[in-house]
Amino acid sequence: MKSLLATALSGAALTLLTGAAQTAQAADSFAACLSQLRGPALKAGVSGATFDTHTSGLAPDMAVIGLLDAQPEFKTPIWDYMAGLVDDERVADGQAGMARWQAELDRAASRYGVDPATIAAVWGVESNFGRTLGGRPLLTSLSTLSCFGRRQAYFRGEFFATLKIIQDEHIAPDRLVGSWAGAFGQTQFMPSTYLRLAVDFDGDGRRDLVDSVPDALASTANFLKRAGWNPALAWGYEVRLPAGLDTAGSGRKNKRPMSSWARQGVTRADGQPLTGGDTPAGLLLPAGRNGPAFLVTRNFDALYSYNAAESYALAIAHLSDRLRGGGPLAQAWPTDDPGLSRAERRELQRLLIAKGYDVGEPDGMIGTRTRQALQAAQRELGLPADGRAGQKALKALKASAAAKTPG
Ligand code: CA
Repeated sequence: MKSLLATALSGAALTLLTGAAQTAQAADSFAACLSQLRGPALKAGVSGATFDTHTSGLAPDMAVIGLLDAQPEFKTPIWDYMAGLVDDERVADGQAGMARWQAELDRAASRYGVDPATIAAVWGVESNFGRTLGGRPLLTSLSTLSCFGRRQAYFRGEFFATLKIIQDEHIAPDRLVGSWAGAFGQTQFMPSTYLRLAVDFDGDGRRDLVDSVPDALASTANFLKRAGWNPALAWGYEVRLPAGLDTAGSGRKNKRPMSSWARQGVTRADGQPLTGGDTPAGLLLPAGRNGPAFLVTRNFDALYSYNAAESYALAIAHLSDRLRGGGPLAQAWPTDDPGLSRAERRELQRLLIAKGYDVGEPDGMIGTRTRQALQAAQRELGLPADGRAGQKALKALKASAAAKTPG
């Protein structure tokens, strides 16, 4: 019977069966895992009723395990990262947001000691001022990450925190959507961060980082205050280095008094005097000695703690300066092919579409499809096919489009 069955099945059908068997196996082990998590969840303060109600219909989403293990296909140069996060559009949106929420920002600034531009800059980088919250249901992602893959212990804590938010904070599960790793809302807090640091600032008795802008802004301010933000300090400054400065001691953590940097000939790029006396500051060189240089204080470390990346903290810091009316960086990035703003990324995508390539919606997000289309277009134009969306690629596509236009 067994051999008869085997010979009757085509290879494709066997593969399907194997896939179905794997799915069934994953579902079985997921169900077993969830039942094992019930006890620890109750210990963490989740009621049996909450646990049962909100886990009964759950199915694992194995795509998040793929995202957990994904190696970045493409290392983003700092100038691409900064060009997309700090562009004229985000500055204009941020200034509009600051005007719209001025009273709440001022109130948050006086309560937490974090200035409005800094709060708004975090909001702009985290969720594009509440426009981009992520679309994955937290219960699904975090239960999957609790049962499969690396770091299950960490994600179990976040899964239980999500159940507690639903139980104690009365936020509906369908509002709890976010990144694949579980960061959610306008502040993109992890659920445990929410439980520790979110605040109710609009006075309705609920801490709502999804649908309440005042709650989101004040929670960000509270986060930074707890991370050590000092209202008397700037995050730091873009600086110019004297020729011959020994940069061996550079680095965010390698702090020395501002006055010591000043004595060595370091000056502010905006021409203001480098003051600050004995304020400790580290020399940050994100692209090496020939790119923009920054002296950063402990407030920069507070920004860093939000997402544990220096490029990320720098984007927030620079955006906050732009929101205060400051200009672009004085020193160019050390490249002959600078990055694109989001408006330019959309233009590049529209030019690719006009050439007949499928990049999906021209949304300004450079993903795999845009890169593949760009590589093909670069080959067509006789350019190095690196798939990087920079100024050179945009210029070449524009020239090609202009050459095709009659007249
Ligand atoms: Ca509230």
